Amino acid sequence: MTPPDGVDPTAVAMTVPDPDSRRRERPTAVPVAGNRRSHPAPAHLRFFHGPMDCGKSTLALQVDFNQARQGRSGLLLTQGDRSGRPRISSRVGLTREALEVDATTDLRLLVRAHWADGRRVDYLIVDEAQFLTPAQVDQLAELVDESHVDVWAFGLTTDFRTRLFPGTQRLLEVADDVQRVQVEVLCWCGLPGLLNARVVDGALVRHGATVVVADTAPTPAPDEPSTGADVHYQVLCRRHHVLGQLGPTAAGPGQLALP
Ligand SMILES: [Zn+2]
Repeated sequence: MTPPDGVDPTAVAMTVPDPDSRRRERPTAVPVAGNRRSHPAPAHLRFFHGPMDCGKSTLALQVDFNQARQGRSGLLLTQGDRSGRPRISSRVGLTREALEVDATTDLRLLVRAHWADGRRVDYLIVDEAQFLTPAQVDQLAELVDESHVDVWAFGLTTDFRTRLFPGTQRLLEVADDVQRVQVEVLCWCGLPGLLNARVVDGALVRHGATVVVADTAPTPAPDEPSTGADVHYQVLCRRHHVLGQLGPTAAGPGQLALP
C-alpha cells in the first residue's frame, strides 16, 4: 500500500471547501478516473471486504502503519465497539485506539472538527464499514473528492442472511477501488468460506436483525431472544450455508455427526 504521489499533507487543511460550493459541485454520478487525472493530488476511496476472520482489521492496521510511516496523519474509526475504549484490534495481536462513530455521526464534521483544532487528517481508516449508513459512505466520498482525504474502508461483505450490508452496498457502488480481501477463510469442508452464518444454539438461523454485531465480539441483536441462547458466527462456503450444515464439530440438529 503506497500513498498517492504528490500528496502534500500540509495542504489538506487549506482545501476545505465552503459548504455552498460543495453542494453546488457535488457530482450526480461517480466520476470516471480520467476526470480526476488533472487534479494535483487526487485522493481515493478504497474498500476492502470479506467474510469474518479474513484479516480485514489486520490489513487496516497495516495500512495505518504504512501511512503513518510516510509522515501522514490519520484517524481510525470503528463502530460497534462495546469495550468503552474503542480500538481496532486484529487477531494477530495488533491493536490501535480508534474513534467510535455511530449512524448519527457526520463524518465530514468529525474531520473538520479535527482540522479546526489544528490537527491534520490526511487519511481515514474505517473499520466495520459495513455498519456505515449509505449517507455516511457518501460523506466519505465527499471528503475524498472535495477535501482530498484518503479513505480506506474495511468491512464485511454480507450479513448472515447472505445479503449485502447497507454500508457495504454503498461502498461497492461508489468506491474508487474495491478489493475482496485475499486471506482465505475456509469452511469446515476446506472450500473457501465466503458467507457468515449466525448460529443459535447450534443451528444456523436465517432471520432476525442484521446489525449490532461486531466482527470480533458477536452478540445477539437486542430484539432477539437472548435468554441464555448461545449465539455465534461461523464462516461457511455457499453450499454449506444453503444446506445449513455447520460441520462435524457442531452439535446442532441436522448437522453432520462425527464418524
Ligand atoms: Zn463447506
